[in-house]
Amino acid sequence: MILLTGGLGYLGSHMAAQIIEQGHEVVLVDNLSNSQFAVLDRLSKLTGRVIPFVQIDVRDKAGLQQVFSQYPITQVVHFAGSKSVNESIQQPLDYYDNNVNGLISLLYVMKEAQVKTIVFSSTAAIYGEPEALPIPESSRQAPITPYGRSKQICEQVLQDLAHAEKGWKIAVLRYFNPAGAHPSGIIGEVPNGIPNNLVPYIAQVARDERPFLQVFGSDYNTVDGTGVRDFIHVQDLIDGHSKALAWLATQPQVFDTFNLGRGEGVSVKQMLDAFSKAVGREIPYKVVARRDGDSASVYADASHANALLGWQATRTVDQMAVDTWRFYENLV
Ligand code: NAD
Ligand code: UDP
Repeated sequence: MILLTGGLGYLGSHMAAQIIEQGHEVVLVDNLSNSQFAVLDRLSKLTGRVIPFVQIDVRDKAGLQQVFSQYPITQVVHFAGSKSVNESIQQPLDYYDNNVNGLISLLYVMKEAQVKTIVFSSTAAIYGEPEALPIPESSRQAPITPYGRSKQICEQVLQDLAHAEKGWKIAVLRYFNPAGAHPSGIIGEVPNGIPNNLVPYIAQVARDERPFLQVFGSDYNTVDGTGVRDFIHVQDLIDGHSKALAWLATQPQVFDTFNLGRGEGVSVKQMLDAFSKAVGREIPYKVVARRDGDSASVYADASHANALLGWQATRTVDQMAVDTWRFYENLV
């Protein structure tokens, strides 16, 4: 059985759908700090299954111990964490507490339960301003926000643990820019307040919830002057997790780190165009000043995941826009 922490969040819910479809048993835990109970109903509708769920904070060791004693867990994917870059600048203690202490609490309980396989959600934010493009895993790490630094510390904790104790099988996955939704339109990234990220913001403009997109800068040295990122379809990203779990199962013990991206840069304007096409009308936007801390271009060298996991992203930016829009269009 696979434990998904943060199982009702954007990525956790897509992982749950996929691994249930593959015939695995799952148990989800989530404290609902950035998700809603309704996602569990949507997942049941999508999979036709009653999915075990425990509302719990991963920092609550006693609660986690109970989950591990109640369910025959063999592998863990740790999605639970706080992910807003801006919020992390305002509330650094909360971010270090949730992301670092959350992981440590989980690892203690896993160790006690003799469950030593974990896939960890990390981020391209670890690299900060790229020293070269595309970015390989060995690139300099220079995160510029508490969020990025909290994930860097988590990676270090995992590496030190794998070094110190036998038997741990650990895959750290550094995500670039996840986008899109499940093709059913039943689950997706549920907006929570004013989005910081490009894709949910565009979707809200498309739903007339916001008047226009602010494009943060059009004077970068890029294809059309707007920022370039490595957007990756959530279903491709989740495929990467399934492949990582399968690969870990073949290893006696291991620690490794993988970039998950398409390896291709897509500009803000190109993403806007893809959405205009999906929605069937122009999405209004205004160019404003650059956002502090943004790099011109960020995209992955994902060849390590390809070589070891046999993984490669296949879905296009158009599919990300179409699937995102299908989800938002149906959202009540
Ligand atoms: P999300 O906020 O949608 O999902 C995270 C889930 O974890 C939420 O449901 C939240 O309620 C839950 N959670 C948070 N803290 C918890 C705690 N202490 N105990 C139990 N549950 C808790 O985010 P997501 O987009 O699904 O991201 C999942 C992971 O991937 C996060 O760790 C995030 O930092 C990382 N990540 C996400 C992105 C992205 O753009 N989505 C990019 C890079 C890395
Ligand atoms: N962006 C934008 N307007 C927005 C949000 C984002 O122009 O409302 C741009 C941002 O400047 C960057 C790209 O979109 O070039 C991706 O930003 P996002 O916050 O989604 O991801 P990041 O790569 O910063 O984590």
